[in-house]
Amino acid sequence: MAGMLRQPDIHCPACGYKPRIEDRWACTPECGTVWHTFWTGGICPGCTRPWKTTQCPTCEKISPHRAWYHLPVDLPASRTEPAEQGVTR
Ligand SMILES: [Zn+2]
Ligand SMILES: [Zn+2]
Repeated sequence: MAGMLRQPDIHCPACGYKPRIEDRWACTPECGTVWHTFWTGGICPGCTRPWKTTQCPTCEKISPHRAWYHLPVDLPASRTEPAEQGVTR
């Protein structure tokens, strides 16, 4: 048992569409593999090309694949890295 995993919410950063099980993306033009890109983290199972962008099936806007993953905002502050402090050493 892996315990409690925080699953990011996956949805289109442009329109909020959540990918469905029946959605498919195509690796074009050369490869032609059709698969569910969120099952592999954007990696084509045919040619192992890591797709850095993902097109929304609904609004057709192309966004960075990582932008589809929205982590919960209620993370405890103790484990987050200091973002405002810049480089001090
Ligand atoms: Zn969209
Ligand atoms: Zn491919």
